[in-house]
Amino acid sequence: MKILITGGAGFIGSHLSHFHIDKGDTVYIIDNLITGSKDNIQDLLHKSSFHFVEEDVTTIDFSVFPTFDIVYHLASPASPIQYKKYPIVTLMTNGYGTFRLLEFVQRSESKAFVMASTSEVYGDPLVHPQVEEYFGNVNSVGPRACYDEGKRYAEAMTMTFFRSYGINTRIARIFNTYGPNMEKNDGRVVSNFIMQSLTGKPITIYGDGKQTRSFCYVSDLVRGLNLLATTPAIEGSIINLGNPDERSMTELASIIKDMTGSESVIKYEAIDADDPRKRKPDITKAKKMLDWNPKISLDLGLDQTISYFRKKFI
Ligand code: NAD
Ligand code: UDP
Repeated sequence: MKILITGGAGFIGSHLSHFHIDKGDTVYIIDNLITGSKDNIQDLLHKSSFHFVEEDVTTIDFSVFPTFDIVYHLASPASPIQYKKYPIVTLMTNGYGTFRLLEFVQRSESKAFVMASTSEVYGDPLVHPQVEEYFGNVNSVGPRACYDEGKRYAEAMTMTFFRSYGINTRIARIFNTYGPNMEKNDGRVVSNFIMQSLTGKPITIYGDGKQTRSFCYVSDLVRGLNLLATTPAIEGSIINLGNPDERSMTELASIIKDMTGSESVIKYEAIDADDPRKRKPDITKAKKMLDWNPKISLDLGLDQTISYFRKKFI
């Protein structure tokens, strides 16, 4: 199969690239490296079945590309620190970038389009756990809006191409994902807590630490994305992909501190505006439609992630 992955040098995109190369597919990635890194795909660069195109999805000339079996659109800054640093890029990549990708899919008659959306479309949710039918509770003018509304717009664009032109689209609402290849300083909670624990620095909990997230290991997520792309007769579907194992940030800090044998102290810091109080996916739809279930426990996933950070950065 021929696969296109935008954002393929990022955290999730690099795992997806490896997944498809390991299956014997031909993989093209488009990445401008704004938040990703060549390190994540270094071992693929010499392969004749792997093509790295260092370009921006909002400006690239798509006419040089072949028809693809699957187009995954993952390009977008994703961590709160990154999208607050690049708010216009985030809006444009999810808005105009998504439009250009969909136009390309239509023109090239590529077979399936997967949009990497996010649990952030639910905002600070009033429905718990979050089901796909929930419209969300999002502040359209807050500091997270460039990302949340960017992704909501990308979803609207994707569904409009599906309804108007019959493009074979699928939307993944991805919940917090973690694992090797996360950037050590992009500010996400798992990488922060691991780096702080391994270096003996204070573990920074924002707010009271009672807010929750549900963490999915990256190999489970990648398997889910591929099932979403390849399952027949689910055009136009919107599916949550995440692990429903919900934890508070206080609990996560204590688990990582114990697993690393760290003596770091816990330091409470101010929390940013609109930080969601809780988040947990309802994955009934993914189980039923994709026969997908996350398999990697938080303990096992953290163990693998801590080993990666220890080896690479300590
Ligand atoms: P990441 O920042 O590691 O990867 C994103 C990649 O996109 C980077 O390599 C970056 O350089 C590239 N990129 C950004 N803008 C671009 C542009 N205009 N043109 C070309 N390349 C561009 O983030 P990630 O965690 O791997 O997330 C991948 C996707 O999954 C994102 O769309 C994100 O919104 C979504 N997602 C991730 C999570 C998560 O927990 N990691 C959760 C929900 C949704
Ligand atoms: N968080 C924290 N300490 C950190 C980084 C994050 O307490 O050093 C909190 C953050 O306030 C949020 C949760 O952890 O409530 C998840 O943050 P992350 O940036 O990883 O993801 P998102 O907010 O996008 O779900």
